[in-house]
Amino acid sequence: MSVLLHNGKIWRSGLKEGKDDRFYDWILINDAGLIEDCGGKGHRPPEAARTIDLGKKWVLPGFHDSHIHILWHGNFLADHVNLKCPNSMAEFKEKLKMFLEDPSNASSDEISWFVAYGFEQGPLGRYPTNTDLDEVSADRPMVVYHTCLHVGVLNTLALRMVGFDENSRPKDDKIGVYPSGHEMEGRPNGLFKESALAGVMSKIPSLRERNKKSILSALNDCVRLGITSVHCLDANCWEAYVELANENKLPIQCFFSTFHDDFVGTNRPKVAGETHGPLLKCSCVKIFTDGALGSDTAALSMPYKKTDPGQEDNFGILFYSQEELTKMVKEVDKCGFQLEMHVIGDKAAEFAVTALEKCRVTPDKRPILVHCQILTHDLVRRMSKLGVIAAVQPQNVPLDARWVRDKLPEKLQECMYPYKTLLNNGVVCAGSSDSPAYYPNSLVGIHDVILQPDAPQGSTSPGCFQPKEKVTFQQAIDMYTSEAAKTDFAENFLGKLEIGYYANFVVLETPKENDGEFVDISEKPESLLDTKVAETWARGKKIFDATE
Ligand SMILES: [Zn+2]
Repeated sequence: MSVLLHNGKIWRSGLKEGKDDRFYDWILINDAGLIEDCGGKGHRPPEAARTIDLGKKWVLPGFHDSHIHILWHGNFLADHVNLKCPNSMAEFKEKLKMFLEDPSNASSDEISWFVAYGFEQGPLGRYPTNTDLDEVSADRPMVVYHTCLHVGVLNTLALRMVGFDENSRPKDDKIGVYPSGHEMEGRPNGLFKESALAGVMSKIPSLRERNKKSILSALNDCVRLGITSVHCLDANCWEAYVELANENKLPIQCFFSTFHDDFVGTNRPKVAGETHGPLLKCSCVKIFTDGALGSDTAALSMPYKKTDPGQEDNFGILFYSQEELTKMVKEVDKCGFQLEMHVIGDKAAEFAVTALEKCRVTPDKRPILVHCQILTHDLVRRMSKLGVIAAVQPQNVPLDARWVRDKLPEKLQECMYPYKTLLNNGVVCAGSSDSPAYYPNSLVGIHDVILQPDAPQGSTSPGCFQPKEKVTFQQAIDMYTSEAAKTDFAENFLGKLEIGYYANFVVLETPKENDGEFVDISEKPESLLDTKVAETWARGKKIFDATE
């Protein structure tokens, strides 16, 4: 059945800034969920089986989140396992006990592990240990994740199940041990970091059913936020996605990117570009190259600022040598997969770019660098030459910029969050949330990349972090729609409201002016923070309505 939506401010992508024909007045959707026709005010709309009056509301293309951890987002939405920063060790244990007693966390044969998320060591005074968790439960294997997800703590039973007992004396600095002088000196204390944590978690028996539930709740949350397609990354989850696709449960299009650990394992697609139904595809492999700024582990070309003069120089952590990384890149590229590399510091970006150059990865392969928080001009130029896509998270700016500035040497501060510089050099910038790092509200991301406030909403007198890196409204919208779609080679059918594209769009409830008219969000981007998603449409069907 054809549907005509008219009397709207339907945003047209790819037009020059400031032109008056920025909008279509109507779009016609056909049975296949594609845009059949569209027109401005002067063009008489055609007849359709169903006609909907948009009441002059703004309509944008559906958002494409170009880097999001759907499973983790779902896990964080689940209140019954989210720790949300307890203020003391006693409160932390109390909360965990409560979670364990919650019937939705009941143990079964299939899902016996208990997993919780979101602690921070600061308010607890220290990292919890296996013995802390044993006090909560000694007879159920338990893992508790730090809010950064790069650190987890296991109880003693869980430790035993993944191969550590009282005779273990691990020598890996990613595995925590009790300090000298402690009665359990040298034994594992339950703490695992980075690849050691990933290794341990991969030994957990199937969590697939629970993962599927989390994935669905996260995707449905995305729908409420106007996201109609995602580039998603979840460890050990490909099979869960495939089952959901086969059960016809995926509400929106998922472009899956497989972690390198899974790529060399079994829970992965057999070939690059493997699809399951119309909504699931995997063409991409993700490699970590460095840590993060929060933990001073992002790899920098010059040392972090010292908090006391006696400190040794810290350049952050590179996960692989240049040779190792180049070898991995070559392998992934040879198998026909698109490359995606986590780079936060400029040194990590340098390693990634060098690996791509050495392997002669061609621009048509569209390698992705995720985060790109610090880039020198030389790196931007090389990225442009390589056809690299920068998957960025502008929500970094208000939330992190100030404390990041305190950590970085002056010279690197100039190179932070270089959105406009990337665009000016012809690098595709794709907007994303990296949820659960940031809540996947693309409207907030669009706001942040246009205005670049240097402090979170509600702070007194925020300024602009780096005026030279501000982008225009049009560029910001494109970053979260048509440009983001390029991450997944989908720009010919996603991210624009034009003939032949999927009718994926979002109807907005923008604030009103005094005269009752909706605010022009391109003129007043600050109003994006008060803008709500009224409806989300995907493939010509309304999949969310705020009034229902
Ligand atoms: Zn990520």
